[in-house]
Amino acid sequence: MNTTQETGTDTPETDAAVAMRATLAKQRAAFLREGPPPLQQRRRDLTKLKEAILSRQDAFVASLDADFGHRARQESQMLDLGSGVGAINYLHANLRRFMRPERRRVAAVFKPGSAEVLYQPLGVIGVVAPWNLPLSLSLTPLATALAAGNRVMLKPSELTPATAELVTAMIDEIFDEEQVAVVNGDAEVGQAFASLAFDHVFFTGSIPVGKAIMRAASENLVPTTLELGGKSPVIVADDFPLETAARRVAYGKCANGGQICTSPDYLLLPKAKVGAFAASFRQQIETLYPDVPENPDFTAIVNDRHFQRLSRLVEDARSKGANVVEMGGADSGRSHPRTFPPVMLLGVTEDMAVMQEEIFGPILPVVVYDRIEDAVAYVNARPRPLALYFFGNDPEEQRLVLDRTTSGGVLINDTILHYAQDDLPFGGIGPSGMGSYHGIEGFRTMSHAKSVFRQARFNLVDLIRPPFGGVFDFLMK
Ligand code: NAD
Repeated sequence: MNTTQETGTDTPETDAAVAMRATLAKQRAAFLREGPPPLQQRRRDLTKLKEAILSRQDAFVASLDADFGHRARQESQMLDLGSGVGAINYLHANLRRFMRPERRRVAAVFKPGSAEVLYQPLGVIGVVAPWNLPLSLSLTPLATALAAGNRVMLKPSELTPATAELVTAMIDEIFDEEQVAVVNGDAEVGQAFASLAFDHVFFTGSIPVGKAIMRAASENLVPTTLELGGKSPVIVADDFPLETAARRVAYGKCANGGQICTSPDYLLLPKAKVGAFAASFRQQIETLYPDVPENPDFTAIVNDRHFQRLSRLVEDARSKGANVVEMGGADSGRSHPRTFPPVMLLGVTEDMAVMQEEIFGPILPVVVYDRIEDAVAYVNARPRPLALYFFGNDPEEQRLVLDRTTSGGVLINDTILHYAQDDLPFGGIGPSGMGSYHGIEGFRTMSHAKSVFRQARFNLVDLIRPPFGGVFDFLMK
């Protein structure tokens, strides 16, 4: 077996790897030949993509339902279709502003020269997508890359094959392979994909694979954006109405069956509030999702491996002394496959796996605290999370949490909705990610900020060429 000569890595030289390199070479040649697309072309591409998605709504709803084992139409419309289309609309509406060169200040000595920053496409961007929002997390990075004038190779997740197949057919139909190409395959294909000499790699997925992506990209010094996961905490302050907190946490925890990178992972609660919160949480689950096992709005777990992983987390916590509060009603035998009814875990300890790994399912461990400073210290003693949720109305406590914790983003008094704010940058920090997209930050992540200085015909600098004599002494005064 050969190894990749160009990259110097020991990635196996499979047929798939050869084909991917050929596609990359074609896209790069087209990029060099045709240059950056003008605004109107980019807008046409975005519109074409949006119309293609909308015209396939029913097919995508069906593919997502098939991939998850069960997923409601409305859940797919909101989390995948709506979020992807919303991002495209936002890019379309703001593109002219994003593309505008930016004037920068010039020191007096360099006037009347002028300085500006040009936002130029990077070239060819490799996008690697996860399974949990397989449409939105493929199409939003793709649309952002196209808005910034790039060409794209996209690798969807192999765990949601029906959606990957539809995305592939859609892209093949509306884009030339020189502009957008889709590569399908498992981790081995992903590894070869990440070894390609892209101009940028945009990865959404788990922390271990994020590390592998960065290692592979480093061989070619390819910059990477890593949208990763981790354990996003919820802090509920003493003053906040428990019922409202319970309802908003319950929805955030159960949306997409708990399989969202920003799903609230665990809860920090004042010690005295545990009993009341537990009762309220159960009631909210029963109101939002009556009879979970057969509830049409409750998304199933994506595959058996993840279902068993979640069962093991609960059993591990139970065996180490947690109080396991099961919710969601009895299974009458009509349940969807792999529906995992919500579970609250009280009395958790640090040695439980559920307090060490990202949960990614409808299990809510509850940790108690005495003072708000203790809750902040608990968060700060752990890896920096992607999201932090704070429920509290006291401005001083809000300020304390905002100032003294570090997370990718913060949402005050609700859960998961900050992702939907298209104008806000979205990304992690530390182990939860690197770089961001959404907002102008997304456009800039996928652009090169090129500094341009234009010298004026008559200028001061021409007067200070050697021989210098005393000119610098004069200038430094
Ligand atoms: P994953 O890391 O297992 O897979 C993501 C993608 O990487 C898939 O396309 C997969 O085929 C590919 N891949 C797997 N092994 C690879 C390798 N060695 N080299 C290159 N590519 C490889 O993640 P997942 O299970 O699909 O997604 C769940 C994770 O993603 C969770 O941790 C979640 O928090 C995170 N996530 C983060 C965000 C975010 O925006 N920050 C969004 C969604 C999911």
